Parts: sequence; structure tokens; C-alpha cells
Amino acid sequence: MKAAVVPAAKSRWILREVSTPRPGPGQVLIRMRASGLCFTDVHLTRGDLPVPFPRWLGHEPVGEVVETGAGVTCRKVGDRVGVPWVQGSCLRCEWCERGKPMFCAEQVGTGVQTMGGHAEYMVAEAAGTVLLPEGLSFEQAAPVFCAGYTVWSGLRWAEPAPGETVAVVGVGGLGHLAVQFAKAAGFRTIAVSRSPDKDPLIRELGADAIVRDGAGLAAAGGADVVLGTGNSMAAMGDAVAGLRPDGRLVAMGFEAAPLALSPADLIMKRVRVLGSQQNHVSHLHEALRIVASGRVKVLTETYPLEQVGKAYDRVEAGQVRFRAVLTM
Ligand code: ZN
Repeated sequence: MKAAVVPAAKSRWILREVSTPRPGPGQVLIRMRASGLCFTDVHLTRGDLPVPFPRWLGHEPVGEVVETGAGVTCRKVGDRVGVPWVQGSCLRCEWCERGKPMFCAEQVGTGVQTMGGHAEYMVAEAAGTVLLPEGLSFEQAAPVFCAGYTVWSGLRWAEPAPGETVAVVGVGGLGHLAVQFAKAAGFRTIAVSRSPDKDPLIRELGADAIVRDGAGLAAAGGADVVLGTGNSMAAMGDAVAGLRPDGRLVAMGFEAAPLALSPADLIMKRVRVLGSQQNHVSHLHEALRIVASGRVKVLTETYPLEQVGKAYDRVEAGQVRFRAVLTM
């Protein structure tokens, strides 16, 4: 089969012929149909996060089960499935027992401890796969497995109350989905975007207002929840100026930089900062159904696997509007 091999950290991806994997006990073989690129792929390729090379990445994989390994009863050939970042864990440690496998030191990360989805086939733990809702296309489903899951889970983590206002900082791969999810859930939604060229598109996504920074957010009435989806900790910290009392900043975009906050905001407005990731697989279940209902649409650029180099370059340069998906 063909796979987008990363030979070593900081190297270019190369489409190579490799041997097709076989499912072991408890595993399934998936014929890949779509695989989303995430900026985390860039972090991994640059060596910012430790993964062994050579390997192929991809943690937004969706496709069809074509073979089941010994003992698999929960999936059958023909199932349409996707695989989230955490596809398995030790099931013995405190965090597994508490139902929080994302904190398990032995977790099996898709495309991290295993080969990922940027290939024609992929093996995954059967119990770690998630069935796709009927009517959801592979191209729409793939980005939900990281981007959509992350933002919907972040919104759920903030526990917004009916009538509250949600602001989204950074309208990119995550943010364009966050705006739509917040609207789909019925919240007044304000986009915090520094790029006026994106304004027409942000309005199409359903934002009720667009502001440029935290001061602008405050002037627009403020927000109860700020979803920090971009890769700028400075923009996230600045947006806190637009949080209302008892507001929550949800940090989910990643940059290796500190988050600066004013004690006046923290104490006088009693704001809370919530770190968030993919917090519970039930949030993925919900996100998939919201996208399948058509209330949220992933804006994608699709590339055949053969054009993976071009897709990667556009992701790395921040040019994709808004999520690149490889198709097989
Ligand atoms: Zn990701």
C-alpha cells in the first residue's frame, strides 16, 4: 500500500510503497477513505513532541473495516469507522479506572504509538474505533475526530448556561468549527479575529458579531465563555479582557509559550482558566451527530493522497481554509 512516510524528524513526507499491515487480536484493518491533516502533524514532524521515526502520521482517520482480528466482536467488515487520538490505554492505572484514558501513561495514540491514517490502510484497536453516523461523508467526518471533537469538547467543558455568550479566539481549523458549534448549540457567538479579510466568511459561519481583540469583545458586551482555538497564547490572554464576571477561558490551541493573565481579571472578575483537550468520548459522539445533521459544516480542502506534500506545505504555512483532508 501507499503511505506518506516521515523518514525522520524535520524531514519532508514521502509517498512510499510499504507493506499493508494485518490486524492482530482485538484489532481491525481499515481501508482509509479520508484522513485529516492537523497542525499537530506539523508539531510532530518538527520534533516538538517525541515520536519515533520513520512513521506515517494522521490522527483524523476514517474509512471502512475490511478485516477483523481474532476475538473482535464489536466491529464487522463494512462498518464505517473513525479513530480518535486515544485508541487504547492500559485499563489498569488509576486514570483508566476513573474513565480518563487521556491521562494514562500507556495510552495508545493514533499516529503516535501506532502508524496513522495518512496511508491506504490502517490497523486500530477495534474497541478504540467509533462508528460514523449514517449520512455523514468521509470527508466531513475526518476532521471531526480531532478538530471537531476538540472544540465541541471545549465548549462542553465550560458548561455554558442557556443565554450565555460564547466568543471564539482565532478563526482557523478549530475556530471555524467552534463558531458553528456554538451557534448550533444556541449561544450568541462572537468571533475574535484579527484578519478583516476573513470577515465575510465568519459572517457566513453564523457569528453574531466580529471583534478584533479583548477590548473590542468587552465593548461588544463581553462573553461568558472564550474558546481559545488559535495557536497564540498572547491572543488568548488578551481576550480575557472581554470576559464577563465568572467567565471561563478555555485553552485548547497550543503554543509553547506562557499564558499571561492580569490578577485583576482573575480576582475581581473571578474568571477561570480551563485547560481542555478531548475530554470524553461522548463529546465525539455528539460532535459527529451535530455535523451529520448539517448544522455544522467543515470547510475543507481535499487532496488525493498522492498530493500529500502540497497539503502539508499549506497546513504548515497556515494557508488552508480551513481543514486539509487527504482522500484515498
Ligand atoms: Zn489534531
